Amino acid sequence: MSQGRYAEAMVSPSTNRRILTAEILSIGSELTVGDTRDTNAGELARALTTAGVAVGRLSAVPDRLEVVRDALAHALDRVDLVVSTGGLGPTPDDLTRESIAAVWGEIPAVDPELERWLRGRWQRMAQPFPEINLKQAWRIPSCEPLPNPNGSAPGWFVRRSDGRLAVALPGPPREMRPMWADEALPRLRAIGLGADTAVRTFRLTGIGESQVAEILGEELLREPNPEVATYARVEAVDIRISAIGGPDSNGVGRTAEDLVEAASALVVERLGAFVWAEGDTTWSQAIGARLDARGWRLAVAESGTGGQLGAVLGDVSWLSLLESRAAVPAGVGSIEDAAHAIRAAAGAEVGVAVRARERAGQIAVTIAVETPDRRHRETRTTFTAGPLGRSRAALAAAAVLFAALGDDPPQL
Ligand code: AMP
Ligand code: MG
Repeated sequence: MSQGRYAEAMVSPSTNRRILTAEILSIGSELTVGDTRDTNAGELARALTTAGVAVGRLSAVPDRLEVVRDALAHALDRVDLVVSTGGLGPTPDDLTRESIAAVWGEIPAVDPELERWLRGRWQRMAQPFPEINLKQAWRIPSCEPLPNPNGSAPGWFVRRSDGRLAVALPGPPREMRPMWADEALPRLRAIGLGADTAVRTFRLTGIGESQVAEILGEELLREPNPEVATYARVEAVDIRISAIGGPDSNGVGRTAEDLVEAASALVVERLGAFVWAEGDTTWSQAIGARLDARGWRLAVAESGTGGQLGAVLGDVSWLSLLESRAAVPAGVGSIEDAAHAIRAAAGAEVGVAVRARERAGQIAVTIAVETPDRRHRETRTTFTAGPLGRSRAALAAAAVLFAALGDDPPQL
């Protein structure tokens, strides 16, 4: 499939419309009866969102011509781009090509070049060509076929005279993904994909979501651009700042990055003391980075937490998990002494002892940290018991450990 032959399909639209909005249409009765999980839509939604395209809807439809056709037509009334997956197979129930042809009002015909390529596939396998597959060589005048090196279904890249687009990709993820990344995305970028967007996420600890919202204030949280949103997650309260570049209320042009930067400065000014990381950094990564900066290793022994701190830190090279009873010699009473013993037993620069006790529906967790230059001990209470309480106790321990490894350590 050469590029030049389909130039007509590519240049004929009078409008070169920047792609700012999209919908994703998953086609296949296996999806609507629940036999197959729709993973394609989520992957494409993420890719488009990252590219600065507002994804307005993800839908799934069965293999029925009028349903697929109407879904496509309605989506194209709403957005600049519709990306579909599925329905490009050779069988009569694969109706994506017919549906697009109906919406465009064009008649599909076998494309000689696609036919040659398709027959060649079977020739190379030394097998007779099943004539049923010939519909995979169809094309309408507005369609530029997208090569498929992993299967027999070419994709369809279809432009309408108003500049709106449909991109039809095969259903199998191993065919869909490379065609999206290698064929569809570059063409969409060439046309103009997405707005100028920027995003920054601050991760906070030691403060609840409602308090964060109160400090940020209603004005900032209601502002649509930059948009500031809070999310209470298990391991953090996240503040996500996102923006789309463009003129502000006074008509002054601002880049997305500038808008995010301005809101970030406010967040840091008001809540910087609670920020422990940015983006999707985990506690293990944040702690690992502080240890790495000094070339230190960590040894941990915990009791009463069900091993949850070890689970939070995960399988990392800088960590030794010790069995509490074995690491701490009999007679060692204080938790500070336990941290010291753990450090010595493992030959690590940092020793951490964690002891959690459940009482009256609460967990009191005490953490002692000993490093080459400081000792720290702290007790936190979780207001839940059981597995959730233990998991919160472990996150509290991670937060205490992270702070103890910082430049600005908690007071002893
Ligand atoms: P098709 O292109 O319609 O022939 O799709 C063939 C196969 O691709 C299906 O049987 C599924 O296994 C897979 N598939 C189709 N659509 C999706 C989807 N949205 N997400 C994940 N897998 C899919
Ligand atoms: Mg199908």
